[in-house]
Amino acid sequence: MRKQIAAANWKMNLTLQQGEALLDAILSRPHSLKENQQAVFAVPFPYLAMAQQKLAGKANVFVAAQNCYSKKSGAYTGEVSVEMLQSLGIQYVVLGHSERREYFNESNQLLADKVTICLAYQLLPIFCCGEPLAIREANTQNAYVAKQLEESLYHLSAEQLQKVVIAYEPIWAIGTGKTASSGQAQEMHAFIRRQLAEKYGAAIADTISILYGGSVKAANAVEILGQPDVDGGLVGGASLIADEFVAIINALK
Ligand code: PEP
Repeated sequence: MRKQIAAANWKMNLTLQQGEALLDAILSRPHSLKENQQAVFAVPFPYLAMAQQKLAGKANVFVAAQNCYSKKSGAYTGEVSVEMLQSLGIQYVVLGHSERREYFNESNQLLADKVTICLAYQLLPIFCCGEPLAIREANTQNAYVAKQLEESLYHLSAEQLQKVVIAYEPIWAIGTGKTASSGQAQEMHAFIRRQLAEKYGAAIADTISILYGGSVKAANAVEILGQPDVDGGLVGGASLIADEFVAIINALK
């Protein structure tokens, strides 16, 4: 059975104290994570240790970094290495978020290196892909996403690929309040799975969790996360509100 994941992406929001209060509020509300379900919190780097401590011993709840560098160590002032993340006991790393691609010029090639180094250090990548509005309007989103997968993931062995979580995030739906319809999400997720099946075989493709991201909130989570190829959500804005994120956790299949 594929993992179902509700992943919170706090981005560059909240103070340490606000972050602690948010985690306390979420943990204090009733939520039921089944064996195949996980809640993941991608918090800013300075809060990783706090989140690790707060979530220690909680079943099926994990901490993620929002990024990492592609080199092992060295003179890269301001960067954070996978070895550092591993030493904190971090489980997941979000890679290739569209904001990183847009504002920090992260290319498919750089992301391929980041995926590789994460896996070398037993960190599980949550690899983001997705098209901008102009590409969707030109109806060329499938080719666009296929290229992102090919250039950043297809150097992996089947065994390595199975450690990757994919997040499909149409850029026009991120932080805009505009969600892809559940039909659009399902269509792209099924396309991604077919692409993976072509490259790695259907049995492998069936094991890969593909999350949807783009204005997921309590009000639309059951509909979107209920689609057969949607295995959870990567959630920005709504993950900053305890009741919203708990409702999204509870909407996992
Ligand atoms: C995101 O940050 O990945 C995201 C999908 O944001 P939002 O839920 O706010 O659209």
